[in-house]
Amino acid sequence: MKEQNLALRKAGNTYSQIAAIVHCSKTTVRFHVTGLRCRKENLFEKECQKCGNTFAVPKRRKDKAKFCSIVCTRSNKDEIKRYRDAVFQKTNKCGCGEDKRYLLLAHHINGNHNDNNSDNLELTCFNCHAKRHLRQTETGWVVDYSALTPRHLLSTL
Ligand SMILES: [Zn+2]
Ligand SMILES: [Zn+2]
Ligand SMILES: [Zn+2]
Repeated sequence: MKEQNLALRKAGNTYSQIAAIVHCSKTTVRFHVTGLRCRKENLFEKECQKCGNTFAVPKRRKDKAKFCSIVCTRSNKDEIKRYRDAVFQKTNKCGCGEDKRYLLLAHHINGNHNDNNSDNLELTCFNCHAKRHLRQTETGWVVDYSALTPRHLLSTL
């Protein structure tokens, strides 16, 4: 994406034009073209969770922003819909018996959200899903969606 942005800039396009062609933000174009200067503007560099490209976001969006462009955001949405449908084809309820569709979601067993193979997906309800993301602290288990509960402990929790 950076190369494409630089080439388009060389060809004389404005930041807005480039952003429209590449489907990323103007901020990201400016970041790729001017590089270091962005630090003064309090930008934060991130890696797209879909395609791996580097893009730029204002600091306040630093935790929220996941994708470099509309294309990647859409393709991620399509992918989620595809694997959600796929997991519902295997089963229509959580291991605990919950079968209300609005309470069910697809959990990534190995913690890798890019691994959407059906072997890595498990249909769980919200409660059982929280149980799959526990972290042990001095005072006991706490829910932490960046953590994975050791599988062998699940039946004891
Ligand atoms: Zn991307
Ligand atoms: Zn999960
Ligand atoms: Zn459940």
